[in-house]
Amino acid sequence: MKIPLMETDIQFNSLGLSDKLLQAIEEKGYKTPTPIQAQGIPAVLEGKDVMAAAQTGTGKTAGFVLPILEGLTKGDRAKANQARVLILTPTRELAAQIQDNIVDYGKHLPLSSTVVFGGVKINPQMMKLRKGVDILVATPGRLIDLHNQKAVRFNQLEVLVLDEADRMLDMGFIHDIRKILAFLPPKRQTLMFSATFSQEIRTLAKKLVQNPVEISVTPRNTTVKSVTQWICPVDKKQKSALLVRLIQENDWKKVLVFSRTKHGANRLTRYLEKKKISAAAIHGNKSQNARTKALKAFKEDEIRILVATDIAARGIDIDQLPQVINFDLPNVPEDYIHRIGRTGRAGLKGEAISLVSADEFKQLSDIEYLLNRILDRKVIDGFSPVHDVPVTRLDKRPSRAKKPKKPKKDSRQGQRSGAKGKGHNPRSGKGNTGRR
Ligand code: AMP
Repeated sequence: MKIPLMETDIQFNSLGLSDKLLQAIEEKGYKTPTPIQAQGIPAVLEGKDVMAAAQTGTGKTAGFVLPILEGLTKGDRAKANQARVLILTPTRELAAQIQDNIVDYGKHLPLSSTVVFGGVKINPQMMKLRKGVDILVATPGRLIDLHNQKAVRFNQLEVLVLDEADRMLDMGFIHDIRKILAFLPPKRQTLMFSATFSQEIRTLAKKLVQNPVEISVTPRNTTVKSVTQWICPVDKKQKSALLVRLIQENDWKKVLVFSRTKHGANRLTRYLEKKKISAAAIHGNKSQNARTKALKAFKEDEIRILVATDIAARGIDIDQLPQVINFDLPNVPEDYIHRIGRTGRAGLKGEAISLVSADEFKQLSDIEYLLNRILDRKVIDGFSPVHDVPVTRLDKRPSRAKKPKKPKKDSRQGQRSGAKGKGHNPRSGKGNTGRR
């Protein structure tokens, strides 16, 4: 059983959920609702619009899925090719995770749900939509394709959920979202979730939600506090060997390693395997099947190391991840926060270690400036760098990293059929949306 970040004194049975849902909650092993659930469930049940500042790990998924399921037990079933609830989410992994949650929580209810995302064949998805579904979980690009092909319609739509809205904007989905909004009926309930509420998100929210109940359960830096962070200065060429040393010496059993590039992820995976350390890579050039398989193997402890690019790792919920390694530092400092958010989850302690070479000084300074602290350094015996990594001066604001290029249309993940992501950094470069 997972322990949420914070539990409340409130009981699930006081929130207005019916017995079949309470039974499913009990079977999941949840004792009490998390704050987002305690505040969000009654508001959603009342039919209100909700704007919630909550990141993955707060129990937000159950916070919207449970009351949505409750609401769906009333009202007409979905007609052919219609969806009563649409949940939009930025990545395939997140979409699949939400669908798993819906299946778990809704197991005693006669409701239907399906998930659609790019990178896999569209036809089976069209077939599943034929009879209509109560809940449709989708990534934006594939949803638009399906709508264009008349496989899905929204005349019966009751609820729209926009999950991880800030990431959707970061990933350049704003036009897709606008397109989708144009084909949804204006009379509906809208729930919007975002880790941060930047000006850009608020502007989008204005068009989306009406008199929303505002919920915030993420005080700045919560994630960071439970994570011990340090850096290992090292020469670039020595990084792979250093990683192997750290894994072996500390006998790490389950490590998520971040790589800035897809090629880098592949190269490192091959190196680890050569050293007899089981590893797999997930990134946008891998097929959906390969990614799902790798993630499953990692979750089930069949492989020790998962090497991921930033986008592929977004929103992945992995239990009790003790270590996160930044094999290289991200170009966008906010990605560092997203990355280390993968450890120290659910009130448990975590460790985030960055292997930093001299050429990454700029990225390091940006991160340290964002965190407003200098990270501890540990040089590992035998890996003392020839090229020094200078120490950041926090009193001098670093110039912002160059705006990353906008991704090509087909480069986003969770996108169109057959899309093999080519973009390295699909951020739009607008705003500091990742800041916590
Ligand atoms: P989420 O923020 O929705 O990604 O959820 C984070 C994790 O917390 C998931 O693995 C859930 O299964 C778990 N979780 C959600 N609600 C509760 C709860 N009330 N008690 C214990 N665990 C929970």
